[in-house]
Amino acid sequence: MKILRFWYKEFPQFPITHRDYWRVVLVFHCLLIASVVPLILCVINVLFFSSYDLALFDAAISGISFLAYMWFRSTGNVIVASICIAVTVTVAICLFVYLTKGYSHSVVWMLVIPPITYFLVGRRWGTVYSGLAFMFCAYIVYQQVGVDFPKPQGMGAFLNVVEACTVIVLLFRFYEKTRSQAYLQLQERNTLVTELAQTDRLTGLYNREKFDCELKQGQHSALCLLLVDVDHFKKINDTYGHLKGDEVLKSMARILQAQVRSGDVVARWGGEEFAILLQDTTQEHAFALAERIRETICSTKIAGLSISVSAGLAVSNTSVYEPDKLLRRADKALYQAKSGGRNRVVAA
Ligand code: GH3
Ligand code: MG
Ligand code: MG
Repeated sequence: MKILRFWYKEFPQFPITHRDYWRVVLVFHCLLIASVVPLILCVINVLFFSSYDLALFDAAISGISFLAYMWFRSTGNVIVASICIAVTVTVAICLFVYLTKGYSHSVVWMLVIPPITYFLVGRRWGTVYSGLAFMFCAYIVYQQVGVDFPKPQGMGAFLNVVEACTVIVLLFRFYEKTRSQAYLQLQERNTLVTELAQTDRLTGLYNREKFDCELKQGQHSALCLLLVDVDHFKKINDTYGHLKGDEVLKSMARILQAQVRSGDVVARWGGEEFAILLQDTTQEHAFALAERIRETICSTKIAGLSISVSAGLAVSNTSVYEPDKLLRRADKALYQAKSGGRNRVVAA
């Protein structure tokens, strides 16, 4: 609730991605309930029952809880706070069940212990607290074996069931919220990591690893591989600096991406070398595309410079798809384009 925002404090050491973020929230929830509910009971005891002893007891619990809240707010010590709350809740519920001898459905409060303790103090201590409390509960119920119920189920029994069940539902709702939030965060990160792992940082194109995957998965019918290499790129770096060279590579990436169809794969294969995988394309079409790319680059100022590219083209025309061979043939064709004078396309 927005109205209660002031009660909660965001600690910089516990961002929403931190594993203890939701533990901190639960500590604040618990301290809010422990500070406010006894205060209400205190007022009720004074106004309606004139029961000043109980009112004093309620006020003391509320005061201690509020002090604990102030301490937690200033220190953010979630471990100590979690242990204290887990112990207090476990002991308080056991004491309540003991004092009521397990009558009036008071034992249903035991069910609140696992969701609170597991969340606050983890699996091992959650099991210890819950196990001890449940054994105690079993003992109390065992005492009732063969005993006639001393009085009919009253309003107290009804309230015990309703209140304990409400708390349990709220706790599990909180649990589910934290679980789904963690899952979403994980999914977002996973997508980001996958994207980073297959993207070239400079150009935003696929990197070599992703391209190799695409090449291996390619269908063997009418698949063309084009390798495009900038001519005398080293000179651009040497003359205008590496930043200019980077600019050229980024512009090259944009031009190549704009020339191909959406299903084709463009990647930065090496330093100033790009690889393009063309699906369902004949050698004539692929060659025409390579020529178009070469001419576009040759006739356009790229990052303010006149540059040229050489390209090697290979087509998978065997019945058995062999990506390594395809790559070797395209590389060889590129080498021929270079040794033949550059600024040209050679088909293997
Ligand atoms: P050729 O015409 O024979 O291809 O000559 P070249 O100079 O283009 O080829 P070479 O392999 O001799 O040089 C490639 C250069 O590309 C060398 C390297 O410093 C540069 N390079 C590699 N990666 C990057 C990069 O990310 N940014 C910049 N600016 N330069 C890069
Ligand atoms: Mg080059
Ligand atoms: Mg090269």
